[in-house]
Amino acid sequence: MNGNVEVVVIGGGYGGVTAANSLARRDGVSVTLVNPRPHFVSRIRLHQLVTGSDDAVEDFGEVLGGKVRLVVDTATRIDAAERRVSLAGGGTVSYDHLVYAVGSGAADPGVPGAAEFAHWVSDLEGAERLRSALAATPASAPVTVVGAGPTGLETAAELAEAGREVTLVCGEVLGPSLHARVRRPVARRLAKLGVTVFEGSGAQVTEVTCDGVRLDGGRELPSAVTIWTAGFRVPDLAARSGLRTDTEGRLVTDATLTSVDDMRIVAAGDAAVMTDRPFRMSCQAAVQLGPAAAATVLRRIAGKTPAPVRMFFAGQCLSLGRNEGVTQFSYPNDKVNAGRISGRTGAGVKEIACRFTLNKLVSGARKASSRASHGDRTDRTDRLETPRPEHRTTPSDSRGAA
Ligand SMILES: Cc1cc2nc3c(=O)[nH]c(=O)nc-3n(C[C@H](O)[C@H](O)[C@H](O)COP(=O)(O)OP(=O)(O)OC[C@H]3O[C@@H](n4cnc5c(N)ncnc54)[C@H](O)[C@@H]3O)c2cc1C
Repeated sequence: MNGNVEVVVIGGGYGGVTAANSLARRDGVSVTLVNPRPHFVSRIRLHQLVTGSDDAVEDFGEVLGGKVRLVVDTATRIDAAERRVSLAGGGTVSYDHLVYAVGSGAADPGVPGAAEFAHWVSDLEGAERLRSALAATPASAPVTVVGAGPTGLETAAELAEAGREVTLVCGEVLGPSLHARVRRPVARRLAKLGVTVFEGSGAQVTEVTCDGVRLDGGRELPSAVTIWTAGFRVPDLAARSGLRTDTEGRLVTDATLTSVDDMRIVAAGDAAVMTDRPFRMSCQAAVQLGPAAAATVLRRIAGKTPAPVRMFFAGQCLSLGRNEGVTQFSYPNDKVNAGRISGRTGAGVKEIACRFTLNKLVSGARKASSRASHGDRTDRTDRLETPRPEHRTTPSDSRGAA
């Protein structure tokens, strides 16, 4: 393909930023990233925002290559036939290739009262509201965390360590994604922090009220602040745009992350699903899928056949407050095994993993800014030769930083 190629990335999370930085390293490719906020949200630290040990926000100037154009807006529709994205601000942005990386947020609990009275921690605005609600509540007031997946466990421990009276309602089992032998040190740590845990029968929340939660066994727990952490939900942008999605609304792709409807659309992160290779919604997956989606686009631009994505997992790291944590090892396919590091060392490993993730974004941004490379080793010969013309956008989308 000759001429300048316009790639639009929707979503500036881990998947979108790593994709944008990888794409921006290639001469002849102009990259525009659309994101609703002017800063990067480090979602893996949102439970820390709630207690104030981290603000979970980074400057896009740090993590996004200078050659990536940031448009601060929300995509409202993808017109695949016209290769155009409509924005909430009224503008549009045209593309030759599109990376769909809108991530995920809080799931709809589908339980009476939850939408009205429960808080969540899975996006910046929810976490900020939760922090305010906690600040307005006495430290001795009961706090209930619903859901004992990684987000629930981390949130419960963080709050308990900060001196809150926390009850964790697990639904079925504490840490369902953990290996049975790894649940024990997690449960011990929660007990040490004074967290009351409900699991097994009678531990499903059936109703949330302004001052409590009701469990399926009929039990009622007082709760001044209730936090719903069970599950993530993806935005409905792909479905609304007529693209094929799974029952959870994730954009359905083949093994190269290409939409099954349109070869000019690829997806990365929580909002993507490769039906024959399911992966866990996670930052770990997103930072691998972003560059993989970019590689698919670059190979297609170069007239080559994209390669199937390969992912590698080593484990899951859980912080259990600032002072302890558990690193749960896994096989490369993300299936957990009994290996673990717990205690202070576990907390250290988790902190290193968070910093490593951010450093990876920062170094990707630097490479993209200098355009030191023209692609990965396999693609180096695919360099595009032609100069860049003006980006094709309508005037009203010029709110983003150039
Ligand atoms: C408290 C907490 C702790 C976590 N800890 C871990 C962990 O330790 N390890 C791990 O692997 N995972 C962890 N996760 C999960 C991880 O954060 C997500 O899986 C990861 O953020 C997914 O990355 P993403 O790029 O797909 O999406 P996101 O990071 O969600 O980014 C998506 C971006 O797209 C934007 N967007 C959405 N809709 C639109 C639109 N219409 N137009 C433009 N932009 C849009 C969003 O605003 C957002 O900026 C944690 C999550 C939470 C909430």
